[in-house]
Amino acid sequence: MQIEKGFTDNWLQPNGAQENLMRQYAGCKRFVWNRALSIEQARYRRGEKKLLGKYEMMKQLTMWRNNPDPHSNFLREAPVHALQCVLYELYESYQRFFRGEQVHPPQFKKKSKANISFTESDPATFEIEEARKRVRLPKLGWVKCRFPQHIEGKPTSVTVKWNGVRWVLPVQSKVEIADHTHPSDTIVAGDFGVVRRVTFSDGVVVPPIDVSWEEKRKSFYQRRLKNKRKFSGNWKKVVDKISKLDRRIANIRKDETHKFTSGYVKNHAVIVLGDLHIKSMSASAAGTAEQPGTKVKQKSGLNRAILRQGWGELGRQLEYKQIWAGGLVEYQSEAYSSQQCPACEYTSPLNRKTQEAFACVSPTCGFRANADEVAAQNQLKRFLSSNKGLALLASGYRASVNSLPSGRSWDSTMKQEPIEEAALCAQPQ
Ligand SMILES: [Zn+2]
Repeated sequence: MQIEKGFTDNWLQPNGAQENLMRQYAGCKRFVWNRALSIEQARYRRGEKKLLGKYEMMKQLTMWRNNPDPHSNFLREAPVHALQCVLYELYESYQRFFRGEQVHPPQFKKKSKANISFTESDPATFEIEEARKRVRLPKLGWVKCRFPQHIEGKPTSVTVKWNGVRWVLPVQSKVEIADHTHPSDTIVAGDFGVVRRVTFSDGVVVPPIDVSWEEKRKSFYQRRLKNKRKFSGNWKKVVDKISKLDRRIANIRKDETHKFTSGYVKNHAVIVLGDLHIKSMSASAAGTAEQPGTKVKQKSGLNRAILRQGWGELGRQLEYKQIWAGGLVEYQSEAYSSQQCPACEYTSPLNRKTQEAFACVSPTCGFRANADEVAAQNQLKRFLSSNKGLALLASGYRASVNSLPSGRSWDSTMKQEPIEEAALCAQPQ
C-alpha cells in the first residue's frame, strides 16, 4: 500500500542571487493572484452569476506569460507550476467561502515577506540529492539544502517557503508500506466541542490548547502597533514580533495535536468523528426566530473558523496516522447528537440546557450528564447502527464505551423534579 508522508524540517540555504529570484517569484505569484481576483470581481460587479473558473484562468495565465505586453510578460521568469498553484489556491479559497468555512471571500494580497512560498508538484521539475545536500529547483538551479531526516519513498512535491526565520523545503513523498492490521479491535466515537476540543466515547477528553500567554503578548504588541507610523522601522519591528508569536501559536497547536494523535491512534482501530461541514450548518449561532442567539456575529465568524481549523487539523492527523497504523477514521453527521437522552431516548433541543449540561426534560426521566459526553455516546450509537458500523461489529470489532458516571443506573437522589417544557420555552436563555 502507498501512503503520503511529509518531511517538513529540510533547511534550504539559497545564495543571495537565488534568494532575490525567490522574492521575485513571490511577487509574480502575488501579481497572478491579484489579477485573477480583480477579473473575477469585475465579472461579479457586471452581474455574472458564475466564476470564470480555474481552467479558463489558466488559459489567461498562459496568455499573460506569452504576451509581449511588458505589464505581464515578466511572469515568464517565474516557474509556471508555482503560478498555476496560485490559481488553485484562489479557487480553493472561493470554495471555502461558499461552503461557509471562511468568513471573507478571497482578498487582494499585499507585499509581505511572510507570504513567500511556492510549490512544485511535478517530480520531473525538481531533483533531490540528499548525499550532496542540495536540491535542483526550476529556474533556480541547484540550491544548498540540509536534510535532517532521510526522505523515504518517491518525492511527489516540494515547497519553497520562508517560515519567518529561515527558508525551508517541505517535501511530500509517496512511501510504500506493508499492509498491516491495527493492534486494537475497538470502535470509538468523538464529538467536537467548544469547551473541550473533543470528547470521546471511551471517556478520553482532549482539552483546548492553552496559548493564553502568547495571545496576551500578541494583543500587547497589537496595541503598540497603533502608536507607530506605518512602515516605519519601529512599526516593522513590532509587526515582526507579532508574526513570530503567530508562528509560535501555530507550532504549539500543531505539536500538542501531534502528541495526542500519535498516542491515541494506537488505542482504537476505528475512530468516528463528526462531519464538520454538516456541523457548521446545524449548529448555527443564529438561533431560531423565537430564541435568537446572542453575539451571533462573533460566534459565526472568527471563533468558529479557528475552532474548525483546530478540529480539521486533529481529524487530518488522526486520519493519516490511522492509515499508517492499519486503522481507519470515519466521518458522520453530528446533527442532533446532543439532543437525545441516552437513558430514555427522548429527543428534544431543550435537553441541552447549556453548552456543558445535558438534562433530560422528559417528565419521567430527569437524566443529567455532561452534554459532550452524551453527544459522544450518541455518535457511537449512531455509527454502530449504520451499515458500516454493523458490518464492523459483525466482523469482530467492538465498541469502546465508558459508561457515563451518571449513566443508565444513575443514583435516584440525582433525579430532579422534571422541568416543564412549556416553562423552558417561555423564558429564553
Ligand atoms: Zn431521558
